[in-house]
Amino acid sequence: MSSKHELYPSVSATSKHTIHTTTASGKELDLRAEFHRTLYAAADAAAKGRTGLFRRMRRGSDGYPIRCTCRDEVTDEPSRDYYCSDCLGHGYLFDETWIVYNRNDDAPRRWGYYLFYVEYSVEPTSKDFIIEVERDVDGNPVVPTVREHYYRIDEAEDFRADDGRVEYWRLKASLVDRWSLWYGEVQQRT
Ligand SMILES: [Zn+2]
Repeated sequence: MSSKHELYPSVSATSKHTIHTTTASGKELDLRAEFHRTLYAAADAAAKGRTGLFRRMRRGSDGYPIRCTCRDEVTDEPSRDYYCSDCLGHGYLFDETWIVYNRNDDAPRRWGYYLFYVEYSVEPTSKDFIIEVERDVDGNPVVPTVREHYYRIDEAEDFRADDGRVEYWRLKASLVDRWSLWYGEVQQRT
């Protein structure tokens, strides 16, 4: 595919992310469609996508994530006394959806952070999460869901075509270690 470098622009290119969607022949590329094919694989390409969870934090009118009522009034930590089914021990309220993403496996070694690519429709923001789940040999999530790794999105960049349409998102993210003492249990439950 001749347009691969356009789909994955250099990470050092920090200025405005306008993508020139015109090829030498003058034909328009539909990067949304091309990225979708990259993730899900067409007949002529191997799938680069992985299935995982996108955790969108619910935010109040002030823009801050909404705290779960299970937090202890004194310590401000998520409940230690019971497993909170509202926040799964996170301490904030969220919604989760299944997504297919592409992860740059070289990014942590080269730049010290994780890089994910997701489709235009995800509309992520910083402080949302990508969650890697355990998958079977065919790449499908095991049932019940096992949440393996949590990545906090630190920066969400939208890549736009010349006409301003969002084509896909690139997410700089950090691996979150153990944010609560429920972490072990969270992995075991859906
Ligand atoms: Zn809670």
